[in-house]
Amino acid sequence: MDQVQVHPTGFVKSTDPGNPTKFLAAEALRGEGGILLNGLGRRFVNELDTRDQVTDAMNKFCSAPDTRARHSASTEEIPKEPLTAAFLVLSQAAADSFGHGALGFYEKMGLMSRAGGLEELAAALRVDQAVLRKTLQDHDSARDKGTHDEFGKSVFPQSALNPLTPSDDKLQIQIQYYWGIVTPSIHYTMGGVRFDDMARVLRAADGAPIPGLLAAGEVTGGLHGANRLGGNSLLECVVYGREAGRQAATLVTSAFSA
Ligand SMILES: Cc1cc2nc3c(=O)[nH]c(=O)nc-3n(C[C@H](O)[C@H](O)[C@H](O)COP(=O)(O)OP(=O)(O)OC[C@H]3O[C@@H](n4cnc5c(N)ncnc54)[C@H](O)[C@@H]3O)c2cc1C
Repeated sequence: MDQVQVHPTGFVKSTDPGNPTKFLAAEALRGEGGILLNGLGRRFVNELDTRDQVTDAMNKFCSAPDTRARHSASTEEIPKEPLTAAFLVLSQAAADSFGHGALGFYEKMGLMSRAGGLEELAAALRVDQAVLRKTLQDHDSARDKGTHDEFGKSVFPQSALNPLTPSDDKLQIQIQYYWGIVTPSIHYTMGGVRFDDMARVLRAADGAPIPGLLAAGEVTGGLHGANRLGGNSLLECVVYGREAGRQAATLVTSAFSA
């Protein structure tokens, strides 16, 4: 039970920032080009690093009192919780790539907002516009060069900076930034009952199978080491669910035939 995975991006709802239950900001938001900014409008981590690394960086660089990402949009007052929070920002290209179905849902839930341009985004995040512009430009220049950036990021799914908004009003409203506030959230338990490749639960004392006790899913431990990669719950749920079922069927069959 000491192997608890913290997911770096649980949404902080601006109207309910202290709620201990968070809605997950899907990994794909960063996977499709979303970037993380501290309260000063600067990047601080490779957004595509493992969950533990991103969480560590957030705790290091986005904790009270140096972040304004904790602010509630509805009030000037800084809430006491969460202590750590960062801005998640998507350019129009990243948003298009992520998909507007799920994005629209986040917006409807009050978890993400839009900003029409860089000036509007800086105002919404309450960060210096020049700092924000440089942050996005630096990201894109590493992307253009095809190199590692200062955080070790080498895959840049999309530009962070939107193209200059055209003068045509109709087109202008189509190019926007999408942003939300995120905080590390308890997500998953890598630990659990010890079991073997036949899904049999093993006794802690001597490692022998406990007769008739099978396990699958998150209650089991040890499959992922100390850091599960996203999406891999299928292993303990599906693969071992099937194996546990097969073993249970064998036990029942042999009980009837005995
Ligand atoms: C927000 C979120 C997003 C995730 N996204 C992904 C993803 O994209 N890909 C992925 O692979 N994994 C993902 N995971 C992890 C994955 O969903 C879980 O590891 C998986 O669902 C666990 O399945 P399970 O059946 O073992 O446990 P659970 O789904 O937790 O089921 C346990 C069940 O047991 C019931 N229960 C508990 N106690 C008792 C009791 N005493 N008596 C009777 N019933 C009881 C509970 O009510 C529950 O229904 C995500 C997890 C979270 C929280």
